[in-house]
Amino acid sequence: MPQVVVVGGGFGGLAAALRLAKLGHEVTLLERSATLGGPLAEVSAGEFAWDAGPSYTLLPAVVRDLFRKTGRPVERELELVPLDVVREHRFEDGSSVRVPSGRAPQLAAFDGLGAGLGQRWVDHVASYADDWDVLRRGYLENPWRPDHLPRDLAALLDSRETLHKRLRKTFKDERLRLVAAHPLVAEGHDLRNVPAWAGSTAYVEQRFGVWTVEGGMARLGTALADRLATRGVTTLTGTEATDLVVRDDRVVGVSTSGGVIDADVVVCAIDPRRLPALAAYVLRTMPAIPPVVAYLGLEGDAPELPHELVLHGDPTLVVRTAGRAPSGASTLTVHGRGRLSEDILRALARHRIDVRAQVVERVDLSPRDQVERWGGSPLGVLWQGRATVRRRLGPRTPIAGVYAAGAHATPGAGLPFVGLSAALVAAEVGPA
Ligand SMILES: Cc1cc2nc3c(=O)[nH]c(=O)nc-3n(C[C@H](O)[C@H](O)[C@H](O)COP(=O)(O)OP(=O)(O)OC[C@H]3O[C@@H](n4cnc5c(N)ncnc54)[C@H](O)[C@@H]3O)c2cc1C
Repeated sequence: MPQVVVVGGGFGGLAAALRLAKLGHEVTLLERSATLGGPLAEVSAGEFAWDAGPSYTLLPAVVRDLFRKTGRPVERELELVPLDVVREHRFEDGSSVRVPSGRAPQLAAFDGLGAGLGQRWVDHVASYADDWDVLRRGYLENPWRPDHLPRDLAALLDSRETLHKRLRKTFKDERLRLVAAHPLVAEGHDLRNVPAWAGSTAYVEQRFGVWTVEGGMARLGTALADRLATRGVTTLTGTEATDLVVRDDRVVGVSTSGGVIDADVVVCAIDPRRLPALAAYVLRTMPAIPPVVAYLGLEGDAPELPHELVLHGDPTLVVRTAGRAPSGASTLTVHGRGRLSEDILRALARHRIDVRAQVVERVDLSPRDQVERWGGSPLGVLWQGRATVRRRLGPRTPIAGVYAAGAHATPGAGLPFVGLSAALVAAEVGPA
């Protein structure tokens, strides 16, 4: 039976390992740290715990499909719940909008910002319906080969329009531009380097909503990690892959901190630049850098906020409420990007959310801390123009027997895209 080695135990690696094991392969999963999940895990301090990275997911169908195809349906293990408010945006001029999912509720919400803005917003979102269909069929749900693309997909991927240009053309009102750009800006991209089609996240959010897991997203990681044993996956934590062993252009093993492991198939679910044999093929890509993150444990109640609040300005702050706290206490997580020359809580206080006197626990992670902790950026590849999409690897790579899954193999980080990339790898490798 072919030996499959999956490198990286984040969501992408877990999903790929489980799918391939279910297809009958003998699978070994390598994870450099002591725990699985990558940022899909908790950060804790005292009696407080926070989602380290993801606190919600788009496209819950991806999680449902993964659970169903690798064992019991998700409903038997976790409760996936839709959020009423996708996020709230507060702008520098003092106005704000709470964005629900669904076309009609969004139309009403944006009309609250100004007469006619609702229609502009829903027209913008609707303009992505065809793009999304092309991407879904040709790129996300079927293994793709950069040199054999369906014509409609090639036209989309090669289109020169940037998101910056599209949004300037579409919206006179800067606030709508900020809302539309947010998912990309939050992942560290410069809109001048992002193709217009990548704005289709707005369509996905409106159409399919935003979902979380009751009790914290980390439960998703734990449920998948528990499933590894059931599926017979050999899991080696504390084992760092250092390179691939390639003979006659075909992979035959993985070098690790604990010696060489033989392999007929290797799934790279980490930044491929970390494995020298693959690094040469992704020389022209760069990682997207995570935000500054502060996890806060507060005595008393946190201010009344939706699941996610975006405070526009410089710095831009994203406040998330999810987390576990002892009774009489609460949690907040704050992400910051931009000019952060002062403490992030002081920047937050300037938005009239002053929790400084309530903080009893605090964990700070700089972008560098996160890259070190998770062995690379969980936000995948930085957009450097439309060609970026063809410069990253996945699902196949130029080395026979080596496949790529995870945030570095998708057109955008985030659990659904990572989950889909693992499904593509499983489809390419096929049954044992
Ligand atoms: C602050 C933050 C907030 C986020 N919020 C959301 C959100 O709300 N919703 C959402 O959908 N997404 C969110 N994301 C993105 C999400 O975390 C990523 O899409 C996802 O974690 C990527 O999964 P992955 O498996 O590709 O990589 P990772 O999750 O980064 O996993 C990589 C794993 O490989 C291991 N590893 C690295 N190098 C090696 C090696 N050489 N050998 C062995 N193991 C190795 C690492 O330790 C890690 O466990 C967020 C990310 C961040 C940083």
